[in-house]
Amino acid sequence: MILVTGAAGQLGRATVEFLLNKVPAAEIAVLARDAEKAAGLKALGVDVRIGDYSDYGSLTKAFSGIDKLLLISGNDVANRGPQQLNAVRAAKESGVKHIIYTSVDNTKPAGSVIAFVEDSHLETVKAIKESGLRWTMLNNNLYADVIPVFIGDKVLEQGIFFPAGTGRVPFATRRDMAEAAANVLSSEGHEGKEYAIAGDAQVGFADVAASLSKLSGKDIRYHAPDAKTYAETLAAAGVPPEFTGFTSAFAGAIAAGEFETTKNDLPQLLGRKPESVENFLKAAYGLN
Ligand code: NAP
Repeated sequence: MILVTGAAGQLGRATVEFLLNKVPAAEIAVLARDAEKAAGLKALGVDVRIGDYSDYGSLTKAFSGIDKLLLISGNDVANRGPQQLNAVRAAKESGVKHIIYTSVDNTKPAGSVIAFVEDSHLETVKAIKESGLRWTMLNNNLYADVIPVFIGDKVLEQGIFFPAGTGRVPFATRRDMAEAAANVLSSEGHEGKEYAIAGDAQVGFADVAASLSKLSGKDIRYHAPDAKTYAETLAAAGVPPEFTGFTSAFAGAIAAGEFETTKNDLPQLLGRKPESVENFLKAAYGLN
């Protein structure tokens, strides 16, 4: 029996959908916090188990009878360190045999510009490796899906204003990452492997601007302000400082080359080329 956590979320839900093409629904369980959010999966015949990474008892109950567990990192970044350690401990106590964890691929794991995101991944990976359980790490690079979150929906009119310098990222779509996770869950031979999950091209924001120009027929420019100008400009436009702090930190990590790696196991896991960023942008900005 396979269990996917975070299944009411975007990566988890897509992973389960891919998994249903490979494994009978009766062999798939999911962990969700809210039964209503997982009702669609229940309707597909998946066993919905309710639990929260913060509630240890709910996890031991939910993980009982599970052989393979896909632990999807939580989105409560400030609290997910201890939450995920709970999940690892509960997996061990419940007799889970193999944990697959969605970590991150960062060229500078210690001393990262985004240590507030990295550190909980590092702690979780360490706990999994020390747990004695079989493990596989899916070291996800950045989703292409975060590009519109970073640069906004007015880029076709206003251009790109984002402090990522000349940093480049091998973005891959969340959908391709979900398909790769489903392929790992439904096949053997992945124990002790750390997969770099990334697209096959290094893409900077000047490249994003060039793609959007080509797709839209407009002249879309990339402007990389310094972090202070970026924060002041967004504040003046009424963007909440928490959001700007988050996007600015990621821009800093991108500028520092923290995601710039050529390691990439995604084509092998998919058995095909990953979707390109340009193709993703076409759909994301309705430029078909
Ligand atoms: P998402 O849509 O926000 O889904 C996150 C899932 O985690 C949700 O289903 C959420 O449950 C679940 N979760 C959060 N806290 C939990 C808790 N205490 N107990 C149980 N479940 C909990 O994010 P996503 O797009 O699927 O991405 C999956 C993860 O990848 C994120 O959580 C984040 O760690 C990471 N991420 C990576 C990138 C990247 O570019 N590589 C970008 C964004 C996020 P509910 O449905 O109940 O809220």
